[in-house]
Amino acid sequence: MIRRYSAPDMTYLCVPILAEDAPSALAEAKHARLAGADLIEFRIDHLFHGEGDDEGASAVEMIVRDSPLPCIVTCRPAWEGGDYDGDESARISLFERLGTLDVPPRYIDIELAALERSANLRQKALLAVDHPAQGRDLSTSMILSAHDFDGRPADLSKRIVRMREEPAARIHKIAYRARSLRDNLELFELLRMRDRAMIALGMGGFGLMSRVLAPKFGGFLTFASLRREAATAPGQPTLADLLSLYNFHSITASTRVFGVIGWPVEHSLSPHIHNAGFASPSAQFDGVYLPLPVPPEWENFKATLGALASDEHLDFFGASVTIPHKEHLLRFALEHENDGWRIDALAQRVGAGNTIMRTEEGGWLVTNTDVAGVMAPLQMQVGELAGARVAVIGAGGAARAAVAGLAEVGAHVCVFNRTAERAIALAQEMCSSTGAGVGGVDVEGAALDSFDPRHFDIIINCTPVGMASGPAPDESPIAGSDLDRAAPDAIIFDTVYNPLETPLLRAASERNLGAISGLEMFIHQAAAQFGLWTKRPAPIQLFEQVARERLSHASE
Ligand code: NAP
Repeated sequence: MIRRYSAPDMTYLCVPILAEDAPSALAEAKHARLAGADLIEFRIDHLFHGEGDDEGASAVEMIVRDSPLPCIVTCRPAWEGGDYDGDESARISLFERLGTLDVPPRYIDIELAALERSANLRQKALLAVDHPAQGRDLSTSMILSAHDFDGRPADLSKRIVRMREEPAARIHKIAYRARSLRDNLELFELLRMRDRAMIALGMGGFGLMSRVLAPKFGGFLTFASLRREAATAPGQPTLADLLSLYNFHSITASTRVFGVIGWPVEHSLSPHIHNAGFASPSAQFDGVYLPLPVPPEWENFKATLGALASDEHLDFFGASVTIPHKEHLLRFALEHENDGWRIDALAQRVGAGNTIMRTEEGGWLVTNTDVAGVMAPLQMQVGELAGARVAVIGAGGAARAAVAGLAEVGAHVCVFNRTAERAIALAQEMCSSTGAGVGGVDVEGAALDSFDPRHFDIIINCTPVGMASGPAPDESPIAGSDLDRAAPDAIIFDTVYNPLETPLLRAASERNLGAISGLEMFIHQAAAQFGLWTKRPAPIQLFEQVARERLSHASE
């Protein structure tokens, strides 16, 4: 009986194992099975050295026979990015030999370029796998693969046509280095247009999206390493990341896509909290949230956001936008008014946006949830803020959000900045945009040198001073001697959240002053985004628990 390949209704999680010897490869495979893998790819390029290597061939046989999961055997030659430098004929003969084992490998991976090298080799390879013209009952299927470690191959469509012409190929595999997020969209298009099972993956940091969203587009498998250092291709996520961070098994064709657009974004907390929130019992929201790295230049931002928002199949529904793209976001929305982009009144008043959401009408709304991030923890701790005297240190994006929110509720705000002109300009802008004199709005600007804590009920640091990996990680924006003069019931709010206890907050706690950490701002701005996207209340406690775990993990 000849078995015919039928497409799986799930995307397999495949752990690649670089086999150095049979016992350790099998031990790794057992770990992978326990950790939730469905398939193992044994990369045998280090184990088998070609003609006459009987020891290597026997080790491969042992691995295949004793594998705790169905397996793919791959002996990647050096000319396709692997480590095998033996002769082609010996490699193909080994595959043939594996095909006759009592328990043969479920799949072998053969490169398109190998089959095209010689008709003879192709004939030999075809003896090892099940295919329509195969006269025997074999249960090994061929994965026909093409890789490019430099970028999208210029002849991609021609390669696909040639792959389609190979009837023995049960599964097609295309993997190339993604040079931007947009390359993922083309990989998804390949999956949508497939004529048989297909693996289409982007390598490198830009390709993560293709790996996580493989189930959305019906990819045959996605590769995941057991440990970060065991990845066999650049950008490969870990099994734990896919299963617990991205809720891989919950991703389906209808899953909505969100993410954080910034540069860099690999270490962002946002995917951790939003994905945990989507999966929480109170939300059960069909969404996934990804890091979306976009290089700093405006052109990159414009091209990427345009492509994500206009892709008909991605189900992109929203994003957080962070450094260095917050200003780019407003510019993008202004330039795309005719495509349904709108900036809400709050983001206009702040002069910066950090959130994108797709509206029910199919348009796009830009808003700013940093304002909620500042105001919610303050209101919870202080209550009524009208008439409160607030010092905002810094005049950048975070300061703008703080000033806009506080001015709106009638607090008296003074902005202190290293560059005094920026503080004064910000104060003037806020007064005119919030109608000073009409609603009693009171915002002043001054040089940081003139800051005197005695005059304030609330002091908010909106500079990066004290931030780990920032310009002055061990410093406080306010000297301890200055804090000594603060009112005994003053509240010190540091918008910096990494570390959790900044030098400023430590100094405040030593003086028994009230304190609000940047983590609270972070969680409340994220909670506001979550509410906009899901129309469900955010699980704030879960957000806080996940964020604290991540931050303490990062500082270990
Ligand atoms: P930004 O736009 O670059 O503004 C930075 C401000 O800090 C500027 O006013 C700058 O003064 C001032 N500054 C920089 N280095 C300084 C120094 N060594 N001494 C005194 N002042 C200094 O940055 P941003 O987007 O507002 O972010 C500022 C901080 O807010 C970030 O580091 C981040 O930790 C925090 N933040 C937190 C959240 C949250 O969710 N918790 C959200 C957003 C931001 P000049 O004008 O003189 O250059």
